[in-house]
Amino acid sequence: MKQLECEFEADVLCAVIQARWPERVDSELREHAKTCAICSDVAMVAGAIESAREESASYSAVPDALPDSGRVWWKAQMRARREAVEAVGRPITAIQVAAFACAIALLGACIGATSSWFQAGLKWTWSQVTGIDVAAIIPYATGLIASHGLLAACMAAMIFGIPVAVYLAVGKE
Ligand SMILES: [Zn+2]
Repeated sequence: MKQLECEFEADVLCAVIQARWPERVDSELREHAKTCAICSDVAMVAGAIESAREESASYSAVPDALPDSGRVWWKAQMRARREAVEAVGRPITAIQVAAFACAIALLGACIGATSSWFQAGLKWTWSQVTGIDVAAIIPYATGLIASHGLLAACMAAMIFGIPVAVYLAVGKE
């Protein structure tokens, strides 16, 4: 099976991008690139990209001077880098979304439990949508929470446990 990755690939790429290749890199790395098909390809293609970039005014586009194989490689590199950045950002996003959902849920619970106008509005909306008189339900629900501190604590634990579980699940990927 053909080797697809090499542990020195990133070092070679860095050296080329920082214009340290091939003079100002470790001789070990230079020797390795002579025998490694991947690293020699990286050095060659990245070198072509860098020289094309220096000639080109545009730094963002794929350099026109590249052969098709180089363009494919360049795009794959950009995609890999973007995916790596997204993978790092994803757990933070999940936490933020979960925290936001918790905040909204808690805010809604607080308003619902304390504000009579909100309850009135909710009752009206609920009865308009479902035809059920919610007036009989809300005192029962608030009474349940008030008299069942343990249940409320369990619900709070669930609300805060879910984002932690989401974070662990996403972080393990
Ligand atoms: Zn290599």
